[in-house]
Amino acid sequence: MISDFFQPGGTLQAGLDTYEERPEQERMAQAIADALADGTSLLVEAGTGTGKSLAYLVPALQSDQKVVISTGTRSLQDQLLNKDLPVLRRIVGQPFDAVPLKGTSNYLCRRKFAAYIATAPKDHPEWDALREWILGTEVGDRAELSTIPENADIWSQVTTGPETRLGSRCPYYESCFVTRARRRAEKADLVVVNHHLFFSDLALRKEHPGARVLPEYDAVVFDEAHGLEEVMTEHFGVELSSPRLEHLLRDWRNHQRENPGKAQNPWMPRRGDQLVMNTANAAQRFFAQIRLRLAKNATQSEGERFTLPEDLIDTQLKELWLLLDETLEELYAHGNLVAECLRDDGHEEKSEELRILASRCTRLRNDLAAIADRSPGRGDFVFWGRFRGPSVALAASPVGVEDVISRELLPNVSSLVFTSATLSAGGHFRHIRERLGIGPDSAEDLRVESPFDYQEQCLLYLPRDIPDPRDLESQAERFTRIAKILTITDGHAFLLFTSHKAMRQCHKALESTAEFPFLMQGQAPRQALLDRFRSTPRSVLFATGSFWEGVDVPGSALCHVLIDKLPFEVPTDPLNEARMARLESEGASAFEHYQLPRAAMAFRQGFGRLIRRKGDRGIVSVLDPRIVTKRYGRFFLDSLPQTARTGSIEQVRRWWQKDSSARRLQTRL
Ligand code: SF4
Repeated sequence: MISDFFQPGGTLQAGLDTYEERPEQERMAQAIADALADGTSLLVEAGTGTGKSLAYLVPALQSDQKVVISTGTRSLQDQLLNKDLPVLRRIVGQPFDAVPLKGTSNYLCRRKFAAYIATAPKDHPEWDALREWILGTEVGDRAELSTIPENADIWSQVTTGPETRLGSRCPYYESCFVTRARRRAEKADLVVVNHHLFFSDLALRKEHPGARVLPEYDAVVFDEAHGLEEVMTEHFGVELSSPRLEHLLRDWRNHQRENPGKAQNPWMPRRGDQLVMNTANAAQRFFAQIRLRLAKNATQSEGERFTLPEDLIDTQLKELWLLLDETLEELYAHGNLVAECLRDDGHEEKSEELRILASRCTRLRNDLAAIADRSPGRGDFVFWGRFRGPSVALAASPVGVEDVISRELLPNVSSLVFTSATLSAGGHFRHIRERLGIGPDSAEDLRVESPFDYQEQCLLYLPRDIPDPRDLESQAERFTRIAKILTITDGHAFLLFTSHKAMRQCHKALESTAEFPFLMQGQAPRQALLDRFRSTPRSVLFATGSFWEGVDVPGSALCHVLIDKLPFEVPTDPLNEARMARLESEGASAFEHYQLPRAAMAFRQGFGRLIRRKGDRGIVSVLDPRIVTKRYGRFFLDSLPQTARTGSIEQVRRWWQKDSSARRLQTRL
């Protein structure tokens, strides 16, 4: 029973010294337990501090069903595995079977490691740490080895991806960490994955009936469900990039080097070398021409998506595309031929490696064709490109993914639970329901409020007398105001921007004042920067993008969150543009149904960085006057919990001084 666990005197209180009665948590857990028992689905928004992880883990474990918990990020997945589940195990006092399952590239590949030790120099700086870890690890999850950075080159030498995994033909198959993790997941009651793995499995099942990575399941709980649309869009579209082709050719060359042709006719390796070179040349010419062709159209900054023109594959490019397609086809045919010879000569493993390389050629050809195909029936796709340094990416993404859940999941799974601290916008669930295709007949919804007293803990500063952030002439006045507010809280602040450019400009303008230790996104990896922020008194962090959500800095290090501009997304982004055009063509206002709710959800995420615990207090400043001067400003404010508000900086100062004295008094008492 849920109440036996959560209510005072129950299991949770008996096992947790820091127990606090949280009726909101029990309410959420009960609603999820009911949905699992009745075989229904549920959208549940849980305000910050509800304790939502326990609110879904407990009913999932009590349900006697096979439940998959899918998280938005790997860090939340690791937090569940390393923090919440161990605590729960201790509290319930009996073992239960909850296991993680990650994407293939997260695990050490024994076959690649064996090849690596045969050739790698033993004075490699990371060698000792790697060897020691491998001798002791039971699961082979590279997250265990934190001394080697995630992006270290060595990982690509000793891990493999879904495209290159040999599977049951691998000689290490039985002892393989991926095989073992999947077998553990088959038997477990609870499997913890992230959205990317969940939807790549779903896409695989759809494309190849019978194939799967995850075990069969009865129910799924999606945490951080506000991010599902983007993940589904990625997994149900195709993307072809110059690095993807380069990686294929690099793997092919490595295979050629490791197989000097003892078992083959002498012409085979020579022919292989030639074909790899032909494909590299064809790819280089194709992508160079794309870059040349699109440089004129691409007005976006580095890394941003831009729309591919309808006539992208014109006569000149078509020739290069066909050439690339042809070389990939030849490489495919050659690979299969050599693979057969290798198998006949008893080199099963090498043969299988080559067969997989050949099938990657086919996938590339298919993806290229899917991106080039602009036939009228493909109006449901948006075609876009992106330049990042020397790399070029082309993609075709579905404009809408609202039928994925209703077609692929709802009919096949007993219960689906969607949860997040931010699912509603403007006080209702209309937007998320529309984007995910979850009608009121398919799932109920529930909002459980945060247990925090925002009225008491937080002041919202909404100045009218500040220039619009889009007015580039008045930036100096804005920077002066920012400096003034930072002085009130003596730093201890997050400054959240909607673009890197705005972030850098403000940082540059305030840096010369050198009043506080200033940190800026990009100066160090995200985690290192956050650690520095926590440990440096009075620091001020300038950030954008990913720092608006998922960042947890409780306590006095963070007393002030400043939002520079309402976070409306760039309307010229091809996906946004296509989604909005579709809404308009259906007679709905794109602003009301898409831009505004998305901006309000992002805004709420930014606001949510401030109050993380019951004792936290502070100020959220919104330096975009539109929130009080425009009619739609109310929509943003209705998305927030009730707080004290002011438009006067003097009142901010007084609130802060009063609050600081109260805190000092509290400390003395
Ligand atoms: S089965 Fe795949 S991941 Fe496992 S050792 Fe073999 S190649 Fe590596």
